[in-house]
Amino acid sequence: MQDRRTYRVAVSKDYLVFASAHFITFAGHRCEPLHGHNYRVGVALEGGLDGESWYVVDFSVLKSILRRLCAEIDHKMLLPSRNPRLRIEHEGSSVRIALDGEPKYVFPAEDCVLLEIPNTTVEMLAEHLARRTLVELEACGVSRLTKIELEVEESFGQSATYRELLGDR
Ligand SMILES: [Zn+2]
Repeated sequence: MQDRRTYRVAVSKDYLVFASAHFITFAGHRCEPLHGHNYRVGVALEGGLDGESWYVVDFSVLKSILRRLCAEIDHKMLLPSRNPRLRIEHEGSSVRIALDGEPKYVFPAEDCVLLEIPNTTVEMLAEHLARRTLVELEACGVSRLTKIELEVEESFGQSATYRELLGDR
């Protein structure tokens, strides 16, 4: 008979944070002014147990993946490469941003991270980090996951959670 037992493990550590700048485009022609947040990340995974170790995932593997993903975007300007209203162009060591065809910002390229999302909302950041986490976990040989929940908090008491059912991976 199929083993239907599942377990949920969660990681949320005080070092799983990133302090980054962003702005969001709104419907119509509105756009937020540039600002930053001290973001916090938490993840929960559900699945069956590893037959030999009796855990869903090795916590140290999960923590090091999340730590690396946070470090990639810490102290950076987060830019959404799939926003149809933004034109993002590299020019020498700069990144030039135009909004609705009008020049808006120029940033040092080394301070920018382009994310393949349409807007840098916490919802999209959570989905991006969840997908990256799954790719990294798979590369580490983690299987049997049935669900991921990844929360990004942008300020105290203000967060979004991305949730995806995975079937049997
Ligand atoms: Zn914001």
